[in-house]
Amino acid sequence: MELQGTSLIGGGRGASAGGEMRAVNPATGEELEPSYFTASRAEIDEAVALATEAAGPYGRLSGKERAVFLRAIADEIEALGDALKERVMAETALPEPRVLGETARTAGQMRLFADVIDEGSWVRARIDHGDPDREPMSKPDMRSMLRPVGPVVVFGASNFPLALSTAGGDTASALAAGNPVIVKAHPAHLGTAEMMGQAVRAAVKKCGMPDGVFSLLFGLGNQLGEVLVQHPDVKAVGFTGSLKGGRALMDLAAARPEPIPFFAEMGSINPVFILPEALAERGEAIAAGLQGAVNLGVGQFCTNPGMVVLDAASDGSGLVEKLTGSMGETPVAAMLTEGISEAYKAGVASVAGTEGMKVLAGGKGSGDGAGFGAEAALFEISGEAFLANPELRHEVFGPSTILVKPSGKEEALAIARSMEGNLTATVHGTEADIEANRELIELLEKKVGRLVFNGYPVGVEVGHATVHGGPYPASADGQSTSIGTMSIYRFARPVAWQDAPESILPQELQEANPLGISRMVEGKLEAGS
Ligand code: NAP
Repeated sequence: MELQGTSLIGGGRGASAGGEMRAVNPATGEELEPSYFTASRAEIDEAVALATEAAGPYGRLSGKERAVFLRAIADEIEALGDALKERVMAETALPEPRVLGETARTAGQMRLFADVIDEGSWVRARIDHGDPDREPMSKPDMRSMLRPVGPVVVFGASNFPLALSTAGGDTASALAAGNPVIVKAHPAHLGTAEMMGQAVRAAVKKCGMPDGVFSLLFGLGNQLGEVLVQHPDVKAVGFTGSLKGGRALMDLAAARPEPIPFFAEMGSINPVFILPEALAERGEAIAAGLQGAVNLGVGQFCTNPGMVVLDAASDGSGLVEKLTGSMGETPVAAMLTEGISEAYKAGVASVAGTEGMKVLAGGKGSGDGAGFGAEAALFEISGEAFLANPELRHEVFGPSTILVKPSGKEEALAIARSMEGNLTATVHGTEADIEANRELIELLEKKVGRLVFNGYPVGVEVGHATVHGGPYPASADGQSTSIGTMSIYRFARPVAWQDAPESILPQELQEANPLGISRMVEGKLEAGS
């Protein structure tokens, strides 16, 4: 597939003009062909106008018809084969197994959403029959269900070039719910974005979908994202990235004359609590697991465990010694972009400079050699000093973690209480540990979207029960998930039809239930057929 470097605007292409940028190979620092051109204001307007035009017809298609489209996208992604793999590896320095795994996850989640809309009950259809004879007032017939919101803008993530980018989870959930999508390509993997965009476009053609159902825009600097978020015809946004970028765009979305829902997944420190019996029984095994989790993907996971809380008297368990050794021996590896590696270096320097902080391994942030190399880092601090330094509760994106040693149970609770919203919290404990620490676990439940027991938070399973979100600042709204099929609810809104003639009702709400979906009728769930 030949890469052209221009935006995909519905069925057409943007001009080869405007601010230019290139993807960079993070392992070597080399710039990759071709140049990518910034979408002009007229091109942005055209993409949004096409999406607005497509919103009606696309939103009125049945779930079954949209499911065919989503499955075609999955097939087209798989058909990209080795060309996609090679481009992703060149742009990200991610290893082959990871790229293959992420490709499978991306196609798999498209098909998972296809299954959900094929089955159809996700729309939460409810029917309350009317009663003209009710006293003192007649009761109207009321029927409601979820409907698409309109054009959705998606910001691709830096660290998941496939599964959370152009045809990733946000795009899949927005398309599944019946919305056209305009993707703002992440500057770190421009060629990957173009290839995935072409795969979506091929499926649009094959399935006879309206052209405007998908566009992919390239842009240098913050301006493209700002214009899209403020565009009056954009109705919702899905974002994955940093707290700084997410917060800036979230504020723009809220300040519009018509504020729109803005769903951002941002940074997270993902605390791990190791309880005393588990520490004594398997401290060394936990150290091995932590080393793997902290360094997976060079620490560039939003679920990376950035702090580990363990008993002050933990030294006999072998955990600290073993983890210090293995973190120190972890080879330097390339991060995704120069910006991310610079931010990591600065973050590590700031943690290392905190009063009371001990550097157990690493501490410089970067390693020798070409590319954007990052050195794994391990720190240790007392519970008291951790509590006195609130900036330590913020994510350092990369392969580093802080061992926090509270003086006892009360201080561990104070640490948990001081945490901001997080995507995950992890507890290592025996049955007896867990029983003795119910208060801690109940406290953590209020702070996170996912509680992990005796495992590690990295590697999110994409399913129907998945929650990848959490109270602010882990996510912008704290009430949704951006991964898993429940994420479809972000891009739909409830609409009620009162006393509507049967002929105008969507099939999901018609009396005979022609789609055979599960519905709530008169407050009782009726199973679908
Ligand atoms: P980033 O700098 O926030 O960039 C994300 C996207 O937003 C890019 O397309 C960027 O493009 C745009 N952007 C950033 N600031 C902007 C602004 N002020 N105005 C308009 N657009 C803006 O994030 P990153 O460095 O790519 O990614 C690393 C971060 O992502 C980490 O903090 C990580 O934890 C987080 N992350 C979170 C999750 C999750 O699910 N919670 C998953 C993966 C990563 P331009 O720079 O071209 O404008």
